[in-house]
Amino acid sequence: MTPQTDPRAGAAVKAADRAHVFHPWSTQELIDPLAVAGAEGSYFWDHDGNRYLDFTSGLVFTNIGYQHPKVVAAIQEQAATLTTFAPAFAVEARSEAARLIAERTPGDLDKIFFTNGGADAVEHAVRMARIHTGRPKVLSAYRSYHGGTQQAVNITGDPRRWASDGAAAGVVHFWAPFLYRSRFYAETEQQECERALEHLETTIAFEGPGTIAAVILETIPGTAGIMVPPRGYLAGVRDLCDKYGIVFVLDEVMAGFGRTGEWFAADLFEVTPDLMTFAKGVNSGYVPLGGVAVSGRIAETFGKRPYPGGLTYSGHPLACAAAVATIDVMAEEGVVANAAVIGTQVIEPGLRELAERHPSVGEVRGVGMFWALELVKNRETREPLVPYNAAGESNAPMAAFAAAAKAHGLWPFVNMNRTHVVPPCTITEAEAKEGLAALDAALSVADEYT
Ligand code: PMP
Repeated sequence: MTPQTDPRAGAAVKAADRAHVFHPWSTQELIDPLAVAGAEGSYFWDHDGNRYLDFTSGLVFTNIGYQHPKVVAAIQEQAATLTTFAPAFAVEARSEAARLIAERTPGDLDKIFFTNGGADAVEHAVRMARIHTGRPKVLSAYRSYHGGTQQAVNITGDPRRWASDGAAAGVVHFWAPFLYRSRFYAETEQQECERALEHLETTIAFEGPGTIAAVILETIPGTAGIMVPPRGYLAGVRDLCDKYGIVFVLDEVMAGFGRTGEWFAADLFEVTPDLMTFAKGVNSGYVPLGGVAVSGRIAETFGKRPYPGGLTYSGHPLACAAAVATIDVMAEEGVVANAAVIGTQVIEPGLRELAERHPSVGEVRGVGMFWALELVKNRETREPLVPYNAAGESNAPMAAFAAAAKAHGLWPFVNMNRTHVVPPCTITEAEAKEGLAALDAALSVADEYT
């Protein structure tokens, strides 16, 4: 599609935005949001005619790219027949979406509780676990992100929770494995795995196993840095949860639906949690949708007593129609396999080659379409390129990196001292190479700060 551009329209959109839109996670007077004119596939463009290759997939949700015609048509068709209907009724789009999701989730995660997004999925997973066990506490990892609503942000292990910590009840954080910045003085993946499991078991013992409802982990922590856990870690957590009667929750809001080159990241590690949250990729973010996939054992708890929770738009027909079409597209077009193949054959070797040439790259890690480059001042000391939670002037190196990427037509994902390479799972080899070339140029700017 030829981008329709009009700088005056862009200026008007921006003026109205600045006057009336209160942006999330932002200092309102400091932000300068791009006015987007359109998007298709792996690209979007602004009103001035600048076109960007989107290496962020929005907020890691457009797993099938923007404006897929089959999903757009399914939304239009649903709107024409039954735009909305209350959640207590059986509606074809909703039951079909639940069936398609349940067919793909691991093990017996066969009942789908729908929400509007990821944070509320986490809220409900925690509530289910508390009622199922009759216990109050939730254990979650530092260096994690679970959402912006009250309980979800309390569970989150990054600085965004600090402002809300006054309302935290029963949340205890622990360290999950991350060899590059090991909290356990580990030198090998195996040591990191063993020590992280020992640390979790000690935390459980000191908190009191009989007080802990759930351990919640992102299968692969995403926002906090795409830290693929060592082999054996998640299976070890599964065993600890079984040993102490704790509900194991895996948060697949970011890692699910093809992102890792499998339908779910849990498939990579062959683990089945008791509850699994999802959102984003379930319908590529075309209409807000999330949910919790519930195991038979936990579903049974609510077989003879009511589940005390729900949302007006649970399983909204438009969102579910988009999910059915998205899952069909993913199956028909081999999107999950594409993420694995382009990831292994193009993105991973490309990023490793960049790391060899650019001293600012401390580590390359990831899988499928889920990669992070950790940028450092010094490879030996691993000092981050910007300090933890940097803002303003102290964040200048990452701001310069991002500006250089954009000047080369690439929209990068930047968080703290990292850039994440998380393009749509439908990306072509040529697009991946184009993005890698732009990253090469932007990393040269980052190198100046090493
Ligand atoms: N969990 C994880 C792992 C996430 O990555 C996110 C969003 N980035 C959420 C939960 C929250 O999802 P939402 O923003 O849809 O509420």
